[in-house]
Amino acid sequence: MSEHAVIEHIPDRVMAVHDRLARAALAFSRKPGDITLLAVSKTYDHTAVRAAALTGQRDFGENYLQEALDKQKAVANPNLVWHFIGPIQSNKTRGIAENFAWAHSVDRLKIAERLSAQRPDGMPPLNLCIEVNVSGEASKGGATPDSVLWLAEQIADLPRVRLRGLMAIPAPSTDLVQQRSAFYQVRTLFNTLNAHGLKLDTLSMGMSGDFEAAIAEGSTMVRIGTAIFGARTYASL
Ligand SMILES: *Cc1c(COP(=O)(O)O)cnc(C)c1O
Repeated sequence: MSEHAVIEHIPDRVMAVHDRLARAALAFSRKPGDITLLAVSKTYDHTAVRAAALTGQRDFGENYLQEALDKQKAVANPNLVWHFIGPIQSNKTRGIAENFAWAHSVDRLKIAERLSAQRPDGMPPLNLCIEVNVSGEASKGGATPDSVLWLAEQIADLPRVRLRGLMAIPAPSTDLVQQRSAFYQVRTLFNTLNAHGLKLDTLSMGMSGDFEAAIAEGSTMVRIGTAIFGARTYASL
């Protein structure tokens, strides 16, 4: 598909995803309005982001800092809310702290401490999710489930970040039961943290291939790339 063709289809694809999201919400007795659609625009340029933003899409997810910063500059739309969802190395924390509203992929205290220390005073606290490595997960990123309570309690004490919830990227599966069981583990952990007094409101889970299962298990934010922008052209992204 040429770049042009991709961009032409974006408005319809955004609407189709909203449709799927609403149907899944209703099927599992959820309110569609309780689930935020995060459009994952990595590898797509500013024209794709603009096309999605024209439909009213507000939240965008990016994985690579330099690509994201260039795109933010080119899009130049102050109404958009940018989420960092890729792995976070120490040398990337300043750029994230200064240019994003959310970071979903925090998996160790040192990264959260740096994000807090580097968040500019004039900005609202940076919203954070802890990425959890649930069993069977393909990527090696994420905190182990038994370290999450300790990590969450430490992060909750940091001044310039606000811990909002958990994020997970389970191993890809086409089986709904298997998809749900991974998300169920994340939700159970989320409930445990809240039972310990953490006031979390965000479950960042579900991608193009499994977001119905994630919604069934309580997702409040689905991160959708392919279903909106089309298949990405380079492998491993
Ligand atoms: C790329 C990516 C997505 C979007 O994946 P799709 O399958 O294209 O919807 C979601 N979350 C994270 C962390 C990603 O890296």
